[in-house]
Amino acid sequence: MIQTEDMEFAPRVISPESSEEDGDIEVTLRPQTLHEYIGQDKVKENLAIYIEAAKRRSEPLDHVLLYGPPGLGKTTLSAIIAHEMGVNLRITTGPAIEKPGDLVSLLTSLSDNDVLFIDEIHRLSRAVEEILYPALEDRVIDIIIGKGPSARSIRMDLKPFTLIGATTRAGQLSAPLRDRFGVIQRLELYSPEQLTDIIRRSSMILGIPCTGDGAAEIAGRARGTPRIANRLLKRVRDFADVMGNGEITQQIASIALSRLEIDELGLDSMDRRMLEMIIKGYGGGPVGLETLASAIGEEAVTLEDVCEPFLMQLGFIGRTPRGRCATKLAYEHLGYKLPDAAADDGQLTL
Ligand code: ADP
Repeated sequence: MIQTEDMEFAPRVISPESSEEDGDIEVTLRPQTLHEYIGQDKVKENLAIYIEAAKRRSEPLDHVLLYGPPGLGKTTLSAIIAHEMGVNLRITTGPAIEKPGDLVSLLTSLSDNDVLFIDEIHRLSRAVEEILYPALEDRVIDIIIGKGPSARSIRMDLKPFTLIGATTRAGQLSAPLRDRFGVIQRLELYSPEQLTDIIRRSSMILGIPCTGDGAAEIAGRARGTPRIANRLLKRVRDFADVMGNGEITQQIASIALSRLEIDELGLDSMDRRMLEMIIKGYGGGPVGLETLASAIGEEAVTLEDVCEPFLMQLGFIGRTPRGRCATKLAYEHLGYKLPDAAADDGQLTL
């Protein structure tokens, strides 16, 4: 019994969220320059221009908002920006800044033109956000000293700095905060070719022998996400060491990934459960996200942030105002027969 429960809640191999296990390896594998950063060409081109312009004027880079699913390289990109600008980087997260005072001490400790990176910026409290508005706009903070009728507000100047905010959900950011970012960039899921390059680079850095086919096999199942690609590389290496001579070939990668229950498109058991519930439990949909989440015992945010972007990219689910629908492609991939009446239904061919 206990074992079943443990397995149920064991972290997914292909969860795009960072785990403790990723810690050291992520730091080793992080590209240091825009040139080394693979993919996201539009974002890189724009940032290269803004960085060059800011450097020529000896000014900080304008505040940047990066958004997109977890594991796509937002933290990496902010480290690269700081590196290219030749300034320090301070990394924190929205939930870690509990009180306005925490943000004030962070802001006042920055040196000229430093980069402050706030991950999950949509989770800042309202009180903390209010400190941020004048800081971003006029480089000042207003501090209230004392209480009651004798309380007074003091205005303090800040050194020039760049805020980089990262979020998986740009829609949840308040409008006044969003408006204070001069540069807003969306990171896209990576193509299998780009992920193959990332895996080849990582395997060289980590000294893991890997054939081109082996890298491509892992890339094809890494759901567009570098963090997952690097994690799968590590897992497949174990299989290569035990089952072969240590080299990751296409055959070993394929066997290893099947053992990890990751199918040839990168779907894992959670994705399949979500699709099967829409198809078998709700006749293909539409079904609301909350209903779906409780039916399969997952959190709605996990389905929305983790499963959905990838399943939508594959064209397996569609979003309608009344909920999520499985598409014809999803029926085909899971080997279900399309319901007769639904075959003509526009929703299924989304
Ligand atoms: P996020 O902040 O969006 O969750 P990270 O920046 O922590 O993602 O990236 C996760 C890992 O993926 C990093 O350790 C890095 O090694 C790798 N990575 C991300 N983007 C790239 C890229 N464009 N090129 C190479 N490696 C990348």
